[in-house]
Amino acid sequence: MGHANRDKLVFTLKDKCRMCYTCVRECPVKAIKIINGQAEVLSERCIGCANCVSVCSQQAKMYLKTTSEVEAMLASDDKVVAILAPSFPADFVDVDSYQVLIGMIRRLGFYKVMDVAFGADLVAEEYKKIIEEKPEKAFISSDCPAIVFYIEHFHPEIVQNLAPIASPMVAITRVARRLYDDVKVVFIGPCVAKKAESDEIDDAITFTELRELFEKHGISQQGTEPSDFDPPKSGRGAIFPVSRGLLQTVKKTDDIVEGEIIVASGKQNFKEAIKEFEKGEIKTAHLETLCCNGCVLGPGMSEKNKLFFKRTQISKYVKRKLQELDVEKWQENINKFADLDLSQSFKPMDRRLKDPDNKEIERVLLQMGKKTPSDYLDCGACGYTTCMEHAIAVIYGYAENEMCLPYTIEKLHNSVQDLNLSNENLANAKMALKQSEKLAHMGQLSAGIAHELNNPLGVITMYSSLIKEELKADDPLVQDIDLIVEQAARCKNIVGGLLNFARKNQIKPKEVDIRKFVERSLESVIIPKNVTTKIECDIENPMVMIDTEQMMQVFTNIEKNAVEAMPNGGELRVEVLGNKDVVEFKFSDSGVGISKENMEKLFTPFFTTKAAGSGTGLGLPLVYGIIKMHNGKIAVKSNTDKSKGKTGTTFIITIPRNN
Ligand code: ADP
Ligand code: MG
Repeated sequence: MGHANRDKLVFTLKDKCRMCYTCVRECPVKAIKIINGQAEVLSERCIGCANCVSVCSQQAKMYLKTTSEVEAMLASDDKVVAILAPSFPADFVDVDSYQVLIGMIRRLGFYKVMDVAFGADLVAEEYKKIIEEKPEKAFISSDCPAIVFYIEHFHPEIVQNLAPIASPMVAITRVARRLYDDVKVVFIGPCVAKKAESDEIDDAITFTELRELFEKHGISQQGTEPSDFDPPKSGRGAIFPVSRGLLQTVKKTDDIVEGEIIVASGKQNFKEAIKEFEKGEIKTAHLETLCCNGCVLGPGMSEKNKLFFKRTQISKYVKRKLQELDVEKWQENINKFADLDLSQSFKPMDRRLKDPDNKEIERVLLQMGKKTPSDYLDCGACGYTTCMEHAIAVIYGYAENEMCLPYTIEKLHNSVQDLNLSNENLANAKMALKQSEKLAHMGQLSAGIAHELNNPLGVITMYSSLIKEELKADDPLVQDIDLIVEQAARCKNIVGGLLNFARKNQIKPKEVDIRKFVERSLESVIIPKNVTTKIECDIENPMVMIDTEQMMQVFTNIEKNAVEAMPNGGELRVEVLGNKDVVEFKFSDSGVGISKENMEKLFTPFFTTKAAGSGTGLGLPLVYGIIKMHNGKIAVKSNTDKSKGKTGTTFIITIPRNN
C-alpha cells in the first residue's frame, strides 16, 4: 500500500481507447504517451490526479481499485478502522443522514468509523503555528497528494516550501493509532492520489468503491441503524474539502489578512500559481493549492458534476455540525492531541525532462509540414496547447506526428491522390495487357499461316523458274512467268514479315555505339528535301547491346512511317536517353498524327491507312515483335488536333541494357 501504489494509480484499457487525445489535453503534467494511436499512462510522470479517468468518454481510463484487498482485511481477524473524508456529504446525498451512512459503513465490518475532519482541525492548528513562527517563509499547503507529487516531480527546488505537516488523513490515522492498538486503517474519500500518499494507512478506497462494496454486500439504508462517528468529533475541519477550506479552517482561529494566503485550485490555476511562486512573483503569500476544484470534485466521487450543489451540501452539513458541537469537549480533544507529532517530510524526485535543442524541434515541425511560424496553427487538436509542445513530445517519444490534424488531413489528401494515380496506372496496364494478349494470339495465327504458305510459295517459285528455263527467250510467256515469280517473291516477303512479328527469342545481341547506329539508320531511309532530321544523344555510356540487324529494321520502319506522315515536310527528331539500366529512344515527327481509334490498331498485322500497294501494315507488327524479343517496351503519343497544339507522333522505345 501507500507509496508502492504510486506507479500504478492510473492505467488505460487499450481496446477502449479511440484516439480523441482528450486525456492528453486534460492531463496537467502530460503523463500520457500516444503510441500507435493509443494512449498509455506514463506512471513515472503521473501525479494521480485521475483527471483523465473523469474526462474519458469511452471509460478507457481506470484507476487502481482495491476493494477486494479491503474485503480481505475485513474478513480477517484484524480490527479495521475506517476514516471517512469530510467530502462525503457531497456524494451520499441519496442517504437520509450522515449517521445512516456511518451505520452502513459499520455494517461492512469496520471496527471504528472516524472523522478525517478532526485530523483537519489538528492540521489547521499546525498551519497556524508555522505561519506565526516563520512569518518570513512562504509555504505551500501539503494536504493534496497530487500537488505534493507534482512539486516533488516537476518543481523539486521548492519541495522545501511544502508545509512540513501531515495531511488530515495522516493526522487522523495517527490519532487512531494512539487510541487503538494494532488496528488497520482504511481511508474512504474522493481522491485517487490518496492511495499512494502514505505508508501509514493500510488502504484507501474511493466513494465509488465504497458504493461497490455496499452493493456487493447488499447493504442499503433500509434496516441500517444510524450511528455517529467514533470520537473525537470534528469542528470546522469539515469545511476542508471545498477550495479555500483550509483558509477558512485556519482563519477561524486567527486574524490572517486575506491576500496572505492565495488559493489556487483546478488544473490550470494550480500550475500557474506554483510557477509564479517558484519565480518569486508571489513572495510572501502562502499557497493553498488543490489539484481538483476542491476535493468535492475528486475523481473518486460517484457523481462527477454539480460543483456548487456539492459545496452547499458541505456547508449545510458543517453548519448543522457546528450548531450541535460541544465546543468545550472539542477543545479538550484538541488539547489532548496537541502533543501528537504531525510532522511530515517530503523528498524531491526530479522527473523533469531536458529541453531538446531547437534544431531537433524544427526538424520534427518540418516533418509535420510546418515550415514557418505561420504554419504553427496551435489548434490544440493533438492535445497539446502549441505545435511546439507537440513537437517536443514527439522527440521524447510521447506523441506521434499523426496526432496533428492538419498534417494527417494533408497526408490523407496525398494518399487519395496517389490512389487515384495508381488506379489510373492500373487501368493503363490493363489496357496494355489486353492489347499484348491480342497481339500474341494474332502472332500465333500469323506464324501458323506463314509456315503453311512458305512451302507452296517455294514450290511455285521453283516450278515457275523451271518452266522459264525451258522457254525460249523471246517466248511471250516469259513475261507472264516473270510476273508469277515476282508476285510469289512478294508473297514470300509478306510471309517473312508475318514470321518476324511472331518469332520468339531469336536475337543475337552485339555491342554498338548507339549514336552511330542511329545515324546509319537515318542514312538508309530516303529523306525528302522538305524533311529535316535531328539526332539528340544524351547518354553517358553509348555502347549498347542489341541485335543490330533486327534493330535496324525497327528504326528504319519507324523513321519511314514518320517521313510518310509528313507529306508536306517537317522535322524528324531522334532522341537517345538512358541510364545504367535502360536505353530510351524517342522518334518524334511533326506529321499528321494518329487518330484515337487507330491508336489501338497500330500493331495489328495488316493495319494500314496507306493506299493499296504503298502500305502493307506489317511495319509496326515487326517493330513490336523485335522490341518484345529485346524485353523492351514501346509506347506511342500522338496529336491530330491542331487546336491542341502542334500535330505529330512520338514513338518511345525502352530497351534494357542487359540483353
Ligand atoms: P504501313 O506503314 O505499311 O502502313 P505500319 O505498321 O508501319 O504499316 O504502320 C501502320 C499504320 O500506322 C500506318 O499506316 C499509319 O496509319 C500509322 N502510323 C505509323 N507511324 C505513323 C506516324 N509516325 N505518323 C502517323 N501515322 C503513323
Ligand atoms: Mg510502315
